[in-house]
Amino acid sequence: MQAAELRGYGQPLELVEREPIQPGPGQVVVEVRACGVCGSDVFLRKGGFDSTLPIVPGHEASGVVARLGPDVNDVQVGTPVAVYYIEHCGHCEMCSVGRVNMCLSVRRMGVEYDGAFADEVLVPARNVIAVEPEDDLAAVAVLTDAVATPYHALVRVGKVEAGMTVVVLGVGGIGSNAVQVAALLGCDVVAVSRSPAKLDLAERLGARAVVSAADGEQEMLEGIKRACGPAGPQVVVQTVGSADVDTQAIKAVGIGGMVLLIGSSVDAFSVRAVDLIWKEASVHGSRGFVPDDIREVLDFYRSGHLPVDHLLGRQRPLSEANAALDDLEAGRVLRSVLVP
Ligand SMILES: [Zn+2]
Ligand SMILES: [Zn+2]
Repeated sequence: MQAAELRGYGQPLELVEREPIQPGPGQVVVEVRACGVCGSDVFLRKGGFDSTLPIVPGHEASGVVARLGPDVNDVQVGTPVAVYYIEHCGHCEMCSVGRVNMCLSVRRMGVEYDGAFADEVLVPARNVIAVEPEDDLAAVAVLTDAVATPYHALVRVGKVEAGMTVVVLGVGGIGSNAVQVAALLGCDVVAVSRSPAKLDLAERLGARAVVSAADGEQEMLEGIKRACGPAGPQVVVQTVGSADVDTQAIKAVGIGGMVLLIGSSVDAFSVRAVDLIWKEASVHGSRGFVPDDIREVLDFYRSGHLPVDHLLGRQRPLSEANAALDDLEAGRVLRSVLVP
C-alpha cells in the first residue's frame, strides 16, 4: 500500500510503500477513495498536535470496505462507507450517553493513529458508516468533517432554531459550510470575511447579508450591528483559528447570545467578565461531531439541499498531498480532496 507519511514537523510528507495492513479483532481495512485536506492537517504538519512520528495524516475519508478482522460480522466487504475519524471506547461516561466525540480515551485517525492520506486505512468496524452506492465518495469525504463539524456546533451544541440570527466569522473550509447549514436550518445568516470572493460565495450558500472584515475591527463590528439590528446576533460561529477573532466574536455577540468556537487557536484571548455578564452571553467550544451528525448531513446532501461542489473543485492524486496542504495554507483553496 501507499501512504503519505509525515516524518518531521514542518517537513514535506513522503510517499512511502508499506506492507498491506491486516485488520485485527474489531477492525476493518477501508480502501480509501477520497480524503479531504483540512486545516487540521496543516496544523498537524507544523507540529500542532504533537503527534508521534511518523504519522499518516488524513481524517476526512470515504472508501470501500476491503478486509475484515476476525470477529467483524456487521460490515460487508465491498460496502461504500464514510469513515468516522474519532475512535472511541464505547463504554466510558461520555460514550454511554452518546457523546462519543468526547470519549475519555479518544484517539483520532490521522492525529494519534495513521490516517487516510493513503490508499488503505485501518479503522475500528464501529467507525464505518455505510453509504449508498450512488453517493459521490468525494462528497461523502468532505461531509464527514468539513460539513459535520459546523453541523454539530449549530445543532447539538448551539441548538439553533429557525429564525435565529447567526453570524459566521470566516468563510473557509468550515465557515462556508456553517453558512450553508445555518441557512438550511432556517436561520437568518450574516457572513463575515476579509475576502470579497468568499463573501460572494457566502451569498450563494445562503447568507442574507455579508460584512467585510477588510477595513478593521471597528468597521466590521458596526457592519454586523447594521446587519443584525439593535439586539445583535443570537449566535456567532467563530471558524477562524485566531485569538483576535475569538475576542471579536465575543464583542459581536448580541444580548442573550451565544458564541460557538470551532476554529481552534492555541493562543490566549482576553474577555472582560462584565461584557459577558451585561449581555448574559455564553461562550461554548464545539469538538468534532458524532456519527449521527454524519448520517444527518448525508440525508441533507442526498435531498439536494446541501451541495458541496464548492469543496470539490480541486481533486488531486496522493502524490500531490504536499501541494494540497500548501494550497490550503496559502488560502488558495477552501479544500482539496486527495483521490488515491
Ligand atoms: Zn478536519
Ligand atoms: Zn469512551
